[in-house]
Amino acid sequence: MGLHWGMEPLSQLVPEYILARIQEAQVDPHVPTKETDRVRFLNGQTGELIKEIDSSKFYRLRRDKLRRLLLTDMEDGVEIHWGRTVEGIEYSSDGQTVTCRFAEGGSDTGLALMATDGPHSTLRSLLLLDGVAATTTPIDYAATMCLTRHTREHALFLRSPPHHPLYQAAPHPKGYCAWLSLLDGDDKEHPENWTFFHYISWKEGRDEINPRRTLQEHVAHIKTLGSEFVDPWCSVFAWMPDDCQQVTYAKMHHWDPSLPEHRWDNHQGRVTLAGDAAHPMTPQRGQGLNHAIQDAFTLCQAIQNFWPHRRDPSFMDARHAAISRYEAEMIERTGAEVRLSAQTAVAMHDWSKLMESPSFKRGLHVEQQS
Ligand SMILES: Cc1cc2nc3c(=O)[nH]c(=O)nc-3n(C[C@H](O)[C@H](O)[C@H](O)COP(=O)(O)OP(=O)(O)OC[C@H]3O[C@@H](n4cnc5c(N)ncnc54)[C@H](O)[C@@H]3O)c2cc1C
Repeated sequence: MGLHWGMEPLSQLVPEYILARIQEAQVDPHVPTKETDRVRFLNGQTGELIKEIDSSKFYRLRRDKLRRLLLTDMEDGVEIHWGRTVEGIEYSSDGQTVTCRFAEGGSDTGLALMATDGPHSTLRSLLLLDGVAATTTPIDYAATMCLTRHTREHALFLRSPPHHPLYQAAPHPKGYCAWLSLLDGDDKEHPENWTFFHYISWKEGRDEINPRRTLQEHVAHIKTLGSEFVDPWCSVFAWMPDDCQQVTYAKMHHWDPSLPEHRWDNHQGRVTLAGDAAHPMTPQRGQGLNHAIQDAFTLCQAIQNFWPHRRDPSFMDARHAAISRYEAEMIERTGAEVRLSAQTAVAMHDWSKLMESPSFKRGLHVEQQS
């Protein structure tokens, strides 16, 4: 995942000595991160450079390594219980507490619940009660995403000039959009152990039933689309085995938290949503993680506001006010981003609209940050 402007809120949440090790969490810890970077978009048919977008320091992070890094020294005061799936919530009648029930059995009670259970959030469904309102909205695009390894020679080729060693994107005049990035380059001396992440997305009506049902059919389809691209996409898809198992086909979805029918009750500030649970968005602008970190920062400020009052009679009002303020800022900021990301998805698959893409016109930054 690409972390760029989200580094600023992250640096206010995480101790400096941990952040100083962020390089360890990169997909390739051996490639130093430049102070500023440019994300390149190539014409997928000709290889011509279409646009370079300025970015602040652009970290390509691996989720498992980032999680490990953030857990450094976490035993000091924070308890983490892995492998618990929330399936229900209950509220105490005195307005004080919220209880989570877990599918594995048992429950936990606390003063506030921050629901960060991802794009298909169970908690979002529980909060909205109306299952339809909580469900993500499909848009008219689909993608097949692949994880692959290659021979030493091929892996080196995929990362050698003129190709970017870490990531590159290519809209194609026929209405496809391709991405290739490194996922795991830890083993510097053995390129055959590197893992690459690559996908192609294309226009596919939200109600259209994809005729390809088996994994092999999806692989065959994506290899055919890949053959229409220049390198490195042409090669990475051609070298992918026909029986590749690390392949996911998905329709693209999003959920705009600013729609009136998406407004949830935070039960006097006892429960709220953050991250993809609050604002799943299409990936072409690479913003979801950055906003999730900004949410964590603003939520942290909200908790700092009400926590000192936890033994006061005014506690419930203070919590309600702080969480409602967090939600107002988060919903405005991320609702706008969900819409911009959807516009970007449309522009990236329509050559006539490409230069109008919000990413091309505005870059990767957000305009309003608290
Ligand atoms: C192809 C692709 C590329 C992307 N690239 C970028 C990028 O370059 N930059 C960027 O900023 N963003 C990017 N994103 C978006 C980014 O991955 C997400 O925004 C980010 O992971 C959101 O983090 P999250 O913690 O909110 O949700 P998630 O990462 O989805 O984590 C949710 C967690 O909740 C757990 N969970 C689910 N249900 C329950 C339950 N009932 N009870 C308990 N736990 C539960 C899950 O197991 C998971 O661990 C990309 C996304 C995709 C699909």
